[in-house]
Amino acid sequence: MADFASTVSNIYSQALGVIEAVEPRIAAATRAELTDQRGSLKLIASENYASLPVLMTMGTWLSDKYAEGTVGHRFYAGCQNVDTVESVAAEHARELFGAEYAYVQPHSGIDANLVAYWSILSHRIESPTLERLGAKTVNDLSEEDWDALRAEFNSQRVMGMSLDAGGHLTHGFRHNISGKMFKQHSYGTNPETGLIDYTKLLADAREFKPLILVAGYSAYPRRVNFAKMREIADAVGATLFVDMAHFAGLVAGKVFTGEENPVPYADVVATTTHKSLRGPRGGMVLATAEYGPSVDRGCPMVLGGPLSHVMAAKAVALAEARQPSFATYAQAVADNAKTLAEGLLKRGVNLVTGGTDNHLVLMDVSSFGLTGRQAESALLDAGVVTNRNSVPNDANGAWYTSGVRIGTPALTSRGFGAAEFDKVAELITDVLKATTPSITAAGTPGKAKYAIADGVAERTKAAAAELLDANPLYPGLEL
Ligand SMILES: *Cc1c(COP(=O)(O)O)cnc(C)c1O
Repeated sequence: MADFASTVSNIYSQALGVIEAVEPRIAAATRAELTDQRGSLKLIASENYASLPVLMTMGTWLSDKYAEGTVGHRFYAGCQNVDTVESVAAEHARELFGAEYAYVQPHSGIDANLVAYWSILSHRIESPTLERLGAKTVNDLSEEDWDALRAEFNSQRVMGMSLDAGGHLTHGFRHNISGKMFKQHSYGTNPETGLIDYTKLLADAREFKPLILVAGYSAYPRRVNFAKMREIADAVGATLFVDMAHFAGLVAGKVFTGEENPVPYADVVATTTHKSLRGPRGGMVLATAEYGPSVDRGCPMVLGGPLSHVMAAKAVALAEARQPSFATYAQAVADNAKTLAEGLLKRGVNLVTGGTDNHLVLMDVSSFGLTGRQAESALLDAGVVTNRNSVPNDANGAWYTSGVRIGTPALTSRGFGAAEFDKVAELITDVLKATTPSITAAGTPGKAKYAIADGVAERTKAAAAELLDANPLYPGLEL
């Protein structure tokens, strides 16, 4: 490993030297980003550190090839190597997740979700409509037929988790295409427990009758029971679509098994590859054999040409995720989140749902008199990188918010364990306790400005540096 790191150091040093000669600002920003990532406590729940093999796989001439279409069926000549890359990545994805079908082309999580939505529409709406109209493909439709088909698409209903309960923009939020394409109805969480209320969800679904039930989240600190989600979908004839963008690593690492593993229960599953799964920035769709053929139409239906270099890096990351060490990592991510939550609770921080059983914790900072924005900024001043996030029924709205979301995937990749995460909880609490909102001209506490008691940010940075130095990022990589 030490040899590998020094080889990689040489490669990157030389490459950055060449880049510097062409555009020095890009070489400088790339170097600075490594320094920043190394020097801060990265608690953004959606971020991670991909391995050096994954990063290096992205930097090749596979990027130069156009390969629209699918394996063995491309719209360009000379795609034999891309076919290999895509087949290997899809094979790893199927094996890792036990999926009947895998599509590794999506460029991001949002793209994967669009592929999922369109594949469900084409399977559920387009195919029966074509049959009814006696047409083989959409190309055979008249303009009038098209109008009718478009109307059918747009009148479909989607039910997903609301944004302030932890759902994602792509689950029907009004400022996202999913909220424009579909009639949408969102489900929240129980106001007392903060948990998904499956009984209420079933009742709502019976009333709303969605074509697609979406399960999955970005900021819900708990596990989801996908067997129950399946029952609800079946009760109303909906397709069950699970967006596991955040927790795919916990599924891959067999932390979420049985009813907590969405793959055996969902018709279609979409994910990112760069969050807890720790691969390159990208997306992926898994499906049953029934939905596979329509998922395969992702490019050119909604995607441009596949990023072959990224598909190659997905294959490498998925191969890594099939190693036993990844299961150890995933378990540590969940264990560390528990330690972090307990560390915060015992120091008096309020947590949405009172804790966590996945990889993330949602702090409600209103008891400190702070908005999420003030807490996020104060923590950043102290070298702790987080993001503000709404809490259910947030009094401060989606911009200022009352919450801060933190997650363990990235620092666990650096080797942080229970002792380090308890210390992280202490540092966070110190900063929150030392921060006060600035008073506005009207004499009330503002929502953006704040002050931190003297010395606290500096003291926190120094303590964080100790933890970070003891758990180096890309050890041996010297530029
Ligand atoms: C992050 C996320 C996405 C979007 O992923 P991008 O790669 O940023 O497009 C989609 N769904 C959920 C639930 C997410 O958390």
